[in-house]
Amino acid sequence: MSDVELVLRSTRVITPEGTRAASVEVADGRITAVQPYDAPVAEGARLEDLGDDVLLPGLVDTHVHVNDPGRTEWEGFWTATRAAAAGGITTLVDMPLNSLPPTTTVDNLRTKREVAADKAHIDVGFWGGALPDNVKDLRPLHEFGVFGFKAFLSPSGVDEFPHLDQDQLARSLAEIASFGGLLIVHAEDPHHLEAAPQQGGPKYADFLASRPRDAEDTAIAQLIAQAKRLDARVHVLHLSSSDALPLIAQAKADGVRLTVETCPHYLTLTAEEVPDGASEFKCCPPIRESANQDLLWQALADGTIDCVVTDHSPSTADLKTADFATAWGGISGLQLSLAAVWTEARRRGHGLEDVVRWMSSRTSELVGLDRKGAIEAGRDADFAVLAPDETFTVDPAALQHRNRVTAYAGKTLYGVVRSTWLRGERIVADGEFTEPKGRLLTRTD
Ligand SMILES: [Zn+2]
Repeated sequence: MSDVELVLRSTRVITPEGTRAASVEVADGRITAVQPYDAPVAEGARLEDLGDDVLLPGLVDTHVHVNDPGRTEWEGFWTATRAAAAGGITTLVDMPLNSLPPTTTVDNLRTKREVAADKAHIDVGFWGGALPDNVKDLRPLHEFGVFGFKAFLSPSGVDEFPHLDQDQLARSLAEIASFGGLLIVHAEDPHHLEAAPQQGGPKYADFLASRPRDAEDTAIAQLIAQAKRLDARVHVLHLSSSDALPLIAQAKADGVRLTVETCPHYLTLTAEEVPDGASEFKCCPPIRESANQDLLWQALADGTIDCVVTDHSPSTADLKTADFATAWGGISGLQLSLAAVWTEARRRGHGLEDVVRWMSSRTSELVGLDRKGAIEAGRDADFAVLAPDETFTVDPAALQHRNRVTAYAGKTLYGVVRSTWLRGERIVADGEFTEPKGRLLTRTD
């Protein structure tokens, strides 16, 4: 074993066994031991005394639209990974759409990796995409190392990424199941969306009515049925409808291999507070009522929902028009996800351990990254150092996102990220970044 190079000492280290005072030893970018707080510092090792700031495992955000290459005016690897690092995230997994090309063939994945290689401030992995006509590409993408495949069951918002009908879903899912892969799904049923009133205009209530809960509930029920039939592993993306929770709980109880995520905006923002015309709050499925939100929190607490990811999906400001029907749908929140979720979690009586479980441990498990997601010997030395009781007011100008339109503007949030560490190196502290040190990850890493 190599000599200890670095010791991070804090009165509050979040470990799988709970929060305790500890000294975390690091060598060669890995955690080698979690020692008692006052353990002697090995000779030659550098001590970082964090005082009462909390040391937590770096967050793993498995749902980010980086849009690079092709729509880099919306975001890009340089800006997205800096924003993520500033928010305590040390690994992100990039969604296969909104970049051009989309990640739907091995060649396209190669292109994306080349673009990301020297811009990644944190570790970056890739999802592949399942389209109606790329079943033959799924296995090669899997073998090349994507973490799984994303499919839409209703129009995605971009022409180059068409959705799957039920037959196409069955075909793709059977192929993915044949090599033990994971399908992650945007679950809204297109027929229910078509049947809903499509009023358009600036009123949030009209937008909400256009994306009803039963569109989600129906698509999730169909997905569960297919997963059950094929014994396939599936994951529901960005769950918003609390009405789907009973059927999710039942499917899990029945042994269906199903996991579910939700997002900071569904947990911290409510339909009641969205001003008319404020399309920075538009995403699909939509932010729903506060009573719906309470049930999402309950489901997180009882494990029906597994994890929390940002679904960071920005665009340029001009696409965020005041008409909810035509405005770009996507919420920008990468840099703020930890603080936003922690602020609401805290108010509802949850601990930081819970936030770490939802935003780091479970997301690492979702993509099989055993070396991430916990502070324990053998894992990568990826950390966020957080002052959980300190507040800040969200100033869009202070965000590292390429576009600073955000639904969180002006909110006062708990949790200031003091620094973020990747494999034992401090990659950002107080707004100062090192050169990019992120790696491109594959499923077998
Ligand atoms: Zn998304």
